[in-house]
Amino acid sequence: MSSAAPRLLVLAGTTEARRLVEQLAGAGNWEVIASFAGRTSAPAALPASVRVGGFGGTAGLERFLIGEGIRAVVDATHPFAAVMPHHVHAACASVGVPAIRLLRPGWEPVAGDHWVIAEDVADAARRLCGLGVQRVLLTTGRQELLPFAGLGSMHFVVRTIEPIDPGLFADAVTIRERGPFDLEGELALLGEHRIEAVVSKNSGGEATAAKLEAARMLGLPVVMVRRPMGPPARTVPGVADALRWLSGVAVGVAGL
Ligand code: NAP
Repeated sequence: MSSAAPRLLVLAGTTEARRLVEQLAGAGNWEVIASFAGRTSAPAALPASVRVGGFGGTAGLERFLIGEGIRAVVDATHPFAAVMPHHVHAACASVGVPAIRLLRPGWEPVAGDHWVIAEDVADAARRLCGLGVQRVLLTTGRQELLPFAGLGSMHFVVRTIEPIDPGLFADAVTIRERGPFDLEGELALLGEHRIEAVVSKNSGGEATAAKLEAARMLGLPVVMVRRPMGPPARTVPGVADALRWLSGVAVGVAGL
């Protein structure tokens, strides 16, 4: 990287953020700072400066952008990060730093799917009760399990990346595993535990989509949680789009 390279802040925590940072490292046009919230115990090493922890709201992020001389921001946080994208949008608009949201497309139902759409995880728990099922695979992430903990009559298989609060479920099967998952494995999981319904957030992406195909093949309902409303930010679906946008920004920065 050239010492004169302008500084880019990437809000991370996703596969796309990782790919973006890795591709930028090869080109050396930006000095990249990758920011993590600190929810994952051991994020894999990245070819960038890494900072961990919140900024202290929109005002804190504004101070960071100015203090660190950030010239562009890519918000590559997760589609279910409900707060950070709003802070990025507001802070960057306020201090005049160009920003873009890198947001992978959501999944869409196809023929043969039986999706029950939920507004949030609490709604997903309510809708699950309406399905008359007993054995459920929960894949909503460890921070969004509480609404299901009250459904004592159901048997849950809970798959998460990080360990869950052991007090939440009396007799759930817990599986700690990080994607990508393949169809064969997902079919085996659903069969082994005699799963009757799957609960998922509409995260999109390839890594965790096989469970949807497996549910379709087995004729199982999927309670699908909608994404939270994002800010009115400029948004691109893929890493290549973000790189193109950055090329344009770099031209503007160089011309200053
Ligand atoms: P969130 O609700 O949007 O953010 C809550 C607070 O966490 C923010 O206000 C911010 O604190 C801090 N924060 C979030 N992302 C940050 C980042 N990349 N760098 C520094 N601070 C960050 O987000 P969340 O749902 O708790 O998710 C936290 C992180 O986990 C995100 O980076 C996201 O990409 C990743 N993740 C989330 C999910 C999910 O389902 N929610 C799934 C996979 C990965 P301050 O206000 O103090 O700045």
